[in-house]
Amino acid sequence: MTTLKAPNHAASVPGISLPQQIGRLGELAYNLWWTWHPESRRLFERIDAVLWEQVAHNPVKFLQQVKRKNLNAAAQDRRYVEFYNRILAEFDAYMGETDTWFARTYPNLLGQTIAYFSMEFGLHESLPMYAGGLGVLSGDHLKEASDLGLPLVAVGFLYKQGYFRQRITEDGWQEAYFDKIEPNELAITPVRDTEGQEVRVSVALAGRTVLARIWRVQVGRVPLFLLDTDIEANSPGDRELTARLYDADPDMRISQFIILGIGGVRALRALGIQPAVWHMNEGPSAFLNLERLRELMNALPKGEDTWERALELVRTTTVFTTHTSVPAGHSNFPLWMMEKYFSSYWGELGLDRDSFMALGQHQEPWGTVFGVTPLALRLSAYRNAVSELHGQVSRKMWHVLWPDRSEDEVPITSITNGVHTATWLARRFHRLFDVYLGPDWRERLDDPATWERIWDIPDEELWAVRKHLKRQLAAYIRDRARQQWASGKVHPIQIVSAGVLLDPYALTIGFARRFATYKRATLLLRDTERLRRLVNQPDRPVQFIFAGKAHPADDPGKHFIQQLYQLVKQPAFSGRLVFLEDYDIRLARLLVQGVDVWLNTPRRPFEASGTSGQKAAINGVLHLSVLDGWWREGYNGQNGWAIGDDTDYNDYEAQDAADCESLYNLLENEVVPLYYDRDPDNIPRQWLKKVRASMATIGPAFSTRRMVKEYTTTMYIPAMEWYLLRRQEMQGAPVR
Ligand SMILES: *Cc1c(COP(=O)(O)O)cnc(C)c1O
Repeated sequence: MTTLKAPNHAASVPGISLPQQIGRLGELAYNLWWTWHPESRRLFERIDAVLWEQVAHNPVKFLQQVKRKNLNAAAQDRRYVEFYNRILAEFDAYMGETDTWFARTYPNLLGQTIAYFSMEFGLHESLPMYAGGLGVLSGDHLKEASDLGLPLVAVGFLYKQGYFRQRITEDGWQEAYFDKIEPNELAITPVRDTEGQEVRVSVALAGRTVLARIWRVQVGRVPLFLLDTDIEANSPGDRELTARLYDADPDMRISQFIILGIGGVRALRALGIQPAVWHMNEGPSAFLNLERLRELMNALPKGEDTWERALELVRTTTVFTTHTSVPAGHSNFPLWMMEKYFSSYWGELGLDRDSFMALGQHQEPWGTVFGVTPLALRLSAYRNAVSELHGQVSRKMWHVLWPDRSEDEVPITSITNGVHTATWLARRFHRLFDVYLGPDWRERLDDPATWERIWDIPDEELWAVRKHLKRQLAAYIRDRARQQWASGKVHPIQIVSAGVLLDPYALTIGFARRFATYKRATLLLRDTERLRRLVNQPDRPVQFIFAGKAHPADDPGKHFIQQLYQLVKQPAFSGRLVFLEDYDIRLARLLVQGVDVWLNTPRRPFEASGTSGQKAAINGVLHLSVLDGWWREGYNGQNGWAIGDDTDYNDYEAQDAADCESLYNLLENEVVPLYYDRDPDNIPRQWLKKVRASMATIGPAFSTRRMVKEYTTTMYIPAMEWYLLRRQEMQGAPVR
C-alpha cells in the first residue's frame, strides 16, 4: 500500500518565484477557498486587472503570466501588503478552524470519512469540469462540506477538453468547439506517493488494462481527486477516455462509468482512504458498489450467506441521490454491452451472468437493459430525490423495483437542493449583509432569523446595490460584444443579438439554462405578437436575456436555440431580446446577480429541482416560474410569481398553451406594472418589498447549509453508525 504524501500545495506555482512579502499567493491560487471569499479575488485583480480578465480568472495562469514589475510593485505597496496579510490571516483561520459545526455536533465521528462521487464538479469558471446544474450542485456541496467541517473527500474526472464551448452562427445554429486544457495551468496537483511517484490505478476495460493517474484539487478543507487516463502508458484511444464530458458514444460512456466507479474506489484505496460512507451523486458512479462488493467477497469468510452479507454491508453504508425526472435521463446499457465489459468481473463477485444482470436489470418498452439508476437504488439504503415533487415522481417511476409496496412507501425520500450562498452572492451584498445581518451572518445562514433582518436594510441602499449589479452586467455584455466585433469574424446582427442595445434601466428578465426541450425556452414564442408589444412599450420597456447550451447530440434543443435566435435578430424586437453565447459559471453568476427577474418555464414535473432561481433570489432577483422542482416548495404567494398552478397535465399542447397564457398575464398585469411603479425618488418601493420577502424566505431554506446538514443528519450519520457497528467485518477489504 502506498500512503498519501502530505499535500504539498506548491507554496508557489511551479517555475515561478514570488516576492517574499506576497509569497503565499501561489498557495492561495491552489485552494479554491478564494473563489467563495468575497474579497480575495481582488488580491489578483489589484496586481493586474487586465490580465486577470484575460486569463478568465484563473489564478495559476495569472501568476504564470503576470509581469515581474507588477508583482514587485504590489510587494512594495504597503496597502496591498496589508490587504494581503488580512486575507491570508482569514485563510489560515479558516483552514485551521477546529470548532466547526460537524466537530461540535459529532465529535466522535471526526475520524471517519465520507466519499462523494460525481461525474462533474462545477467549482469555478477556471476549472471546466462541469456541464450544468448537476456539476454546480456537486461543487456547491463540496464547498459547504468544507464550511461545515465534514470529513468528506470527493472523486471525479479531469476532463482535458471539459464540456464544449458554444458559438452561435449568424443563422442561429449552435457550434461546439473544445479548448485543450493544460493541467499545469490549472489549480490541480498530481498525487504522488512517498517515493515521489505519481499514484496510478488500473481498471480492465473489455480485455485491456487502462491506467489512470490522480490529480488533487483543494476545495477549502475538502480534497477532490480527479482521475485522468491521458498518460503515455495508455493507447491513444484510451488516453481520450477522460477527455470530454458526456460523450454520446456508448462505449465511451460505459468506460467512463467504470473508470469513475471502479477506478475511483481503487484510487481511494491507493491513497490509504477507507471511507465509512459512500455517496453516489447520480447514476454514473453506480459501479463503485460493484467494486466494494468484489472487495468484500474476497475479504469476508466464505459461507452460504457471504453474498447476502456483502450486499447488506454495502447497502447500509451507501447514499444515492437521483437527479432527473425525465425517464430518458437515466443511463442504460444494453445487456450485450454489459457482457462485453463485465464478463470477467462477475465471477469475482461469485455471480453468474443472470444474477449479475439482475442487479441492474430494468424493463424498457424496447426491451431489457442494465440501468445504472436501478443498480444504484438496489445497492443503497439511503436514497433521495432532490425536491418533494421529484420525490413523488421518483417513487412513481421506480415503483417497479418495490412491487410489494404502495407507491407512497417506495423508499426514496427527498432533500431539496440548495446553493452555496457565499459563492453566488454578489460582493456588494456580502458587504451590505455585514452591516445589516450581524457580523456572524455567515455562521447562521440557514436560520430564518438571520435573513429576517433583510427588512432592516433601507430601500435606498437595497436599490442602489440592485442598480449597480445591473449596470455591471450591461457593461460586461457590451464589452464581450465589442470583442466579438473587433475579432472581425461576426456579422453586425450578431453584435445586436449579443446585447449592445440593452438598456441598463429597463426591466430585465433572465432565462439561462441548458436548452433541454423540457425546459421550454420557446414558451414565450408561442405568441410573438404579444411579446413584441411587451418589449416595445415606450414608457415601460422589457428586455429578455437568454443563454444556454444544447447537448451536442440534441438537435431539438439546438432547433430551440435557432428559433429563438431568429426572433432575437428581428428589428421588430428592437434589440430587446438578447442571446449570450457560451453559458458557464461566470455568465451564470453575472446573470443571476444582474437581472431583475429570473424566468423558469419547465414542463412540470420534469424539473427535478433547479437551482439557478435560488442563486438569483439571494441577490434580490425575483423568481417567475412554473411550480416545479424547488419552486413548488419555495413559493409562498408573496416572494415571487407562479406560472400556472399545481395541475398535472397529460396533454403537452394544453399544458403549453395554459402556461403561456399565464406567463403573459403575469408579465403584463403584475411584473411590469410593479417594476415601473416608482415614488418621487424613482424607487420601486412595492417591488423592493417583494424582493425582501424573496430574500428572507429563500435565503435560509435553499442554501447548501440547510441541504448538507440534512444529508448529514438523515443519511451520512446513520450510515456511519452502521459502518462503525460492523467495521471489524468490513476491514478485511484488500487494497489494490
Ligand atoms: C446553477 C447553474 C445551472 C443550473 O440551473 P437550473 O436550470 O436552475 O438547473 C446550470 N448551469 C450553470 C452554469 C449554473 O451555474
